[in-house]
Amino acid sequence: MTVRTLIVEDEKNLVALLRVHLQREGFEVHEALDGLEALEVARRVNPDVLVLDWMLPGLDGLGVLRELRGFSDAYVIMLTARTEEIDRIVGLSTGADDYLAKPFSPGELMARIRAMLRRPRAGSPNDTEDREQVLWFEDLAMNLDRREVKIGEEEVYLTALEFDLLATLASRPGVVFGRRRLLERVWGEDYFGSDHLVDAHIAKLRKKIEADPSNPCYVQTVRGAGYRFRKQ
Ligand code: CA
Repeated sequence: MTVRTLIVEDEKNLVALLRVHLQREGFEVHEALDGLEALEVARRVNPDVLVLDWMLPGLDGLGVLRELRGFSDAYVIMLTARTEEIDRIVGLSTGADDYLAKPFSPGELMARIRAMLRRPRAGSPNDTEDREQVLWFEDLAMNLDRREVKIGEEEVYLTALEFDLLATLASRPGVVFGRRRLLERVWGEDYFGSDHLVDAHIAKLRKKIEADPSNPCYVQTVRGAGYRFRKQ
């Protein structure tokens, strides 16, 4: 199978250099010089691998990646201008598979791409259900991409706050979150609110997801400490 690659970069010299190296690997090479063109080409050629520069005219690399994830699960290696940026970008959970800071050697990039291609992917490109991030806990299923929650087959309608609260806790089962920490995570660092606000929203959330809210199975109270999502 031929591996189709798409280089998205506005520096033409770098594009030319990368093209030579990718072709030497036996890859099919497509190119785009800005973000919008990248999406157009990606839709057309359905690439297996994107080499995506962060800094692009118009739509930047992050914007491209967000759009791309709606229709493609291509491997993406993101190029950034500075090493320090990588930590920040990784924290944003952009959906990129790997990151490389400029300047880099083409050999390094090829090694990263080969390593990516060896890594198994969950689901096939056409299987959107598998690609989405879903957390399961017995009857409870949380689709983090669609922001949907189901208990069994039944959809549960949560407010944005309730969803964020549940997602924060459920993403790290067993970890205790203090009320202050939940306020910061869910309401934002600048939010000036009382701890009781957290309790009130937890109570509402429990009414929606727990069979018996007074004896919760999913979101547990840890006396004197805060809340945690039950560990499987
Ligand atoms: Ca650039």
